[in-house]
Amino acid sequence: MNNVGISKKLEQTARLLEFCEGPSPLTDELTRAAERVLLLEIPLEFFASAASDERVGAELDEALGFWFRDFFPDVVWALRETVATGTSALFERVARAVESGVVELARVRTLDMRAVGFLRDAFGVRDLESLKRACEAGALSRSREFSSETELDILDDIYFLNALDKDGVRDGKTSKRESAADVFASESFGSEFVRFASFDEPALPLDDPNLIFSANAEALADFIVSELRNPTKKRDVAATAKAFVSEFVSKERIDAAREQALGVVGKIRRFFVPRDNPTNARLRWEKEERRRAREARRRESRDGAQGGSNGERSENWDGAVAPDARIEAVGPLGRSTDAVARLDFLIETDDPKTAFERIKNAVFVKETLAEDARFLAVSLRQEAFELPFNGRPTPETRLFFYAATEFVWGARKLYLSSTPTHWDALRKRAEERGWRLTSLGLYSGARRLGSRTERRIYEKLGLPEIPVELREGRVENDWLEAGAPELLTTADLRGDLHSHSNFTDGTGSLEEMVAEARRLGLDYLAATDHTKNVVSVGGMNDAEFARYWDYIDELNGVLRREGIDFRVLKGAEVDILDDGSLDLKDETLARADWVVASLHFGLDQSPERLRRRYEGAFRNPFVDAIGHPTERIIGVKAPMEVDVDFLVESAARFGKLLELNSQPRRLDLPVDALIAAKRAGVPVVISTDAHSPTHLAYLRFGVEQARRAGLTRADVANARAFAELTELRAELRRQSERGKN
Ligand SMILES: [Zn+2]
Ligand SMILES: [Zn+2]
Repeated sequence: MNNVGISKKLEQTARLLEFCEGPSPLTDELTRAAERVLLLEIPLEFFASAASDERVGAELDEALGFWFRDFFPDVVWALRETVATGTSALFERVARAVESGVVELARVRTLDMRAVGFLRDAFGVRDLESLKRACEAGALSRSREFSSETELDILDDIYFLNALDKDGVRDGKTSKRESAADVFASESFGSEFVRFASFDEPALPLDDPNLIFSANAEALADFIVSELRNPTKKRDVAATAKAFVSEFVSKERIDAAREQALGVVGKIRRFFVPRDNPTNARLRWEKEERRRAREARRRESRDGAQGGSNGERSENWDGAVAPDARIEAVGPLGRSTDAVARLDFLIETDDPKTAFERIKNAVFVKETLAEDARFLAVSLRQEAFELPFNGRPTPETRLFFYAATEFVWGARKLYLSSTPTHWDALRKRAEERGWRLTSLGLYSGARRLGSRTERRIYEKLGLPEIPVELREGRVENDWLEAGAPELLTTADLRGDLHSHSNFTDGTGSLEEMVAEARRLGLDYLAATDHTKNVVSVGGMNDAEFARYWDYIDELNGVLRREGIDFRVLKGAEVDILDDGSLDLKDETLARADWVVASLHFGLDQSPERLRRRYEGAFRNPFVDAIGHPTERIIGVKAPMEVDVDFLVESAARFGKLLELNSQPRRLDLPVDALIAAKRAGVPVVISTDAHSPTHLAYLRFGVEQARRAGLTRADVANARAFAELTELRAELRRQSERGKN
């Protein structure tokens, strides 16, 4: 029996038990277990065939002990019996006590058992089929025992159960993987086990090479979504993917703008580009288009058809996701987590079987790992991909697809996008109101209060819709207490305060950088090239910085004369030397508009030494911000051994800003540090550290990370216009004077 069958059995057990003995903690737990089974990403029948085998039996106990460690032993035991034999003693006991049709009807969540009795007496309803006929005829709502809304809910339930039964409950093979014995024998089983089992963050350290950092994951996700909507006919994945990802990188820019800008500042025009809301920018299915397609389909079916139930799809469409259906990233990817080991997608469909068949045929799929009525796991043809930001998927990269019908979309999405901590808090809230929140909806007894949209469920629970990035069990409460403010968006950022040009290791000229910054809608850009300590990139000495800044003065002069409201800040990314002094003289720094101080060498030093070096930078009156403060490189290098609290406290004391570096591999500060900064009132500056004009678009990766920490406009220094930023810095300098004493 596969996961769906097992889940169904547990659910029936719960409902029948409720019928016979009334609701109890045990019925709740059985229901919860039924839901958990549906979400398991490893087919339980791996264990079933050999459950009598002692060794594998022990594996089964261990597996259930892991996934169901928070359940009553009675429930785990009933589950174990069901996995091994297809039924349990508990089920047999309660099923004997009722008529056979009732066993079926017990699965309809919208009905309680009193209602089942009523329906039997009043309408002769004995099974799902007769109930369906009665609802479709409108008999229930006419009786005035049921509202027409409830009647529709019951129908929804039945359609859903039918879809589930049609595809899910045939027993037998649901996976092309090895037999259970092979799986257990393989060495990688341990780690895979944990990976499959946790639907949350991968249990991998952030420097694990198997992780894909979020910018690459987004590019990959964009490609997958486009393939599922409109599969390419050619089978050359490498070429397709390559073309796609190079477009992903460049889609933020207009080449004409750069050509015009080459050396001819006077010709720079102001380009207006609609700024992206980061949450909309993620995966580009257009809501509006979807709505139109849906309407067109409705019209068609109304006009033409006698309607075969699965009919009406345009003939040449062979994508896995219908033009009018949703596909959205869920899980860690949906929350823009720093790095992910797998990509999860929720697909709207009432025909998961066909959708999954088509996914399995997609060009990017290597093999099917596991499959169920509402879940499909595949591995990626990773060798074919080169990701835009220097990276490849690894052999460990998994793609998980979940299916949901329209009427449970909101509940499924909420469940799959929350961490367990966030979900448990919502469940508790529901319980306090005497309700039950499940991955299929919010229920009061048998009445469904909400399932179609996330907003509706939050609303019923007395909450505003919590942005998906906050569903991590970290700062939701802070955010709610603050009155649910708008989180930061890319459009809020007015300038970029860390960039490199071809004066050192950037590939673009200052003019190109300015043109691109303007095209993205920014008002100022700090040119912060390297100092001489970074020899390999031609870092500049004091005299060279004087010439660099003269050039910038000239550039600003031209911009002014052209009537262009844009400002280039005379900046530096000054190295913090071994003794904590800086790589430029104070007399030199005094002329700068903006100074970022960073470590580039000796990153493996002891915490005490690193701390002394940073202290030197904090005490220098000309330093404005600390660049890439923890020096982590995702997938490569763990953060330095520097204490985040020390950084935040020193920044507060000396009036400095802390940088959130938006380079996709850095995203440094990490989320926890951003939260600490916000709580200490230390403003953050979100910078790209751009080494080419295209990098200036990376601001949005920084913004995604900032949203996870709950940052708003007020928390971010460069979400201010230039004049306000100047004011903020003056205030911070005064603070710095006080801090030194
Ligand atoms: Zn740097
Ligand atoms: Zn830099």
